[in-house]
Amino acid sequence: MGAKNISVSIHDVSPNHESELKKIVDRLHEAGIDKTNLLLVPNWHEKNDLRNHPCFVDWIKELKKTGCELAQHGYYHLAPTKQKYAGLIGWLMGEFVAVGMAEFQNLTYAEAFERIIKGHEILTDSGLNAVGFIPPWWQVSKEAENAIIDSKVFNYYMATDCWNLFGRFSAVPITDLKTGKIHQSREICFEPRDKFADYFTKSLAYIITKCEQQKTIRFGIHPQDIKNEKLFDYILNKIQEAKKDREIATYSELFSKK
Ligand SMILES: [Zn+2]
Repeated sequence: MGAKNISVSIHDVSPNHESELKKIVDRLHEAGIDKTNLLLVPNWHEKNDLRNHPCFVDWIKELKKTGCELAQHGYYHLAPTKQKYAGLIGWLMGEFVAVGMAEFQNLTYAEAFERIIKGHEILTDSGLNAVGFIPPWWQVSKEAENAIIDSKVFNYYMATDCWNLFGRFSAVPITDLKTGKIHQSREICFEPRDKFADYFTKSLAYIITKCEQQKTIRFGIHPQDIKNEKLFDYILNKIQEAKKDREIATYSELFSKK
């Protein structure tokens, strides 16, 4: 077995979060972390089409030069307002945990395929080569998962169903679409909400960084994390701790490394 890994992702990369994202990247650079996965939302809430933001796109291209990897993160990151949930757990997940953001959770094949391709077009028109697909909250219907696979424009994707609850402590598999290989690892996300939720998330982060037996630990950073200074310091601290005996890798590198 080769070296252990740590993979750091920045979620919800969109001009809508430009100031927060720039602060996050600066803080990560100061901490010596420049190789991250950037999860690009092609058209955040249908108001931030990347083609209309060339300066922001240029900034992404500069980050790519430093070793960042680009992935497509949904299309506009909102679920349809009227959607049919598969069951109670799905409803709880979609409405209260993901608060209407789990865009691909209940889509039909045709709806998912259309959003994937529209988003991919925006990225390619902008000169951004996204090698993977990561749906918001990692949630997909079976039909949406098939649409991701059939789109044939990505090297890998992530997907899980609503049983893998709360996203904050999830072993969400990454599937290599070329070889069918599956990489299992947990992703620690923070997204500050209230005191209790933050305490819960920090406890999980503490336990995972101390005890994780899997080869890889993933950290997911969201734009809102930087608004809570104390929490962001905690995140950086945990990344630094995990980095002591782990190598930083992008998602693609998790498959290529031995
Ligand atoms: Zn997201």
